[in-house]
Amino acid sequence: SKNTGRNASNLFRDGLNALIEKRRALQADLEKALEQDELELYYQPRTNAQTLDIRSYEALLRWNHPERGIVSPVEFIPVAEACGLIIDIDTWVFREACKAATNQLKGAHISVNLSPLQFQQKDFVEKFETILRETGADPSQLELELTEGMLVEDDIRGLSIMKMLKTLGLSLALDDFGTGYSSLSYLSKYPFDTIKIDRSFVAALGHEDNAVAILKAIIGLGAGLGMKIVAEGVETVEEAVFLRLNGCDQLQGYLIGKPLPIDLVICDAPQDKVA
Ligand code: C2E
Ligand code: CA
Ligand code: CA
Ligand code: CA
Repeated sequence: SKNTGRNASNLFRDGLNALIEKRRALQADLEKALEQDELELYYQPRTNAQTLDIRSYEALLRWNHPERGIVSPVEFIPVAEACGLIIDIDTWVFREACKAATNQLKGAHISVNLSPLQFQQKDFVEKFETILRETGADPSQLELELTEGMLVEDDIRGLSIMKMLKTLGLSLALDDFGTGYSSLSYLSKYPFDTIKIDRSFVAALGHEDNAVAILKAIIGLGAGLGMKIVAEGVETVEEAVFLRLNGCDQLQGYLIGKPLPIDLVICDAPQDKVA
């Protein structure tokens, strides 16, 4: 039994070493990916629930790995967060989105995800301001998606960063709404323009008794606070019809469209007007 114990701990150590080695390799690959242009933004449409126009998109990161093909952000963003590379990556993402806003997606609205680490950097507002100036993008075309975990209770510093971003003319969205522990007062304390209802609530429609009441309440709350409401993960016609009839502003999900490379994106925005 002494022997099996040692075997088990050896196995554990081998497994752990393999895991650490895999992470290290992924991190080294990721550093190269940024230099060698292997990262790409895909754009997923957010349709206006009433007119069904498509003038808004969420930019989602993809990695074209030379050997592994397309790698999902779910796999590499945690690694990039852990080693700090996410800061350079998110800066690259914002710049790409700004370029698209003056080019293929002129007149459209683009939202980009912001990592908690980026939000904590002292110089990030200035950096984004510089990118806006250098690319000539219209700030009103761009929205940053934050998650509630990025703000602590009564976050004075977070609030002041949000105000600076708003002063630049950017809009702010609260992503994955309903998945954290935020109280309702959270919504009135911080200057969000948009609430993105997490897809778990949409998926619950037709399966869980309370889903209808919860969705109606979130939509009513957002409307009352003057915020735009976007539903994520809309996959069925029934979901889309319910959300439209109940006053949700925008729909995002596979039913409307999957994230696509920029060359395949369809945009209804008039090229000379902002959505
Ligand atoms: P997220 O911000 O919540 O993005 C929505 C995710 O849901 C995307 O996954 C999208 O492809 C997926 N999705 C959209 N519609 C549907 C649907 O109808 N059904 C289902 N099941 N899924 C749908 P993706 O692209 O794999 O991104 C995963 C997460 O990675 C994102 O979640 C976001 O947290 C993070 N991420 C993606 N791009 C970036 C980025 O540029 N920077 C940072 N910091 N994070 C990013
Ligand atoms: Ca998002
Ligand atoms: Ca989300
Ligand atoms: Ca998320």
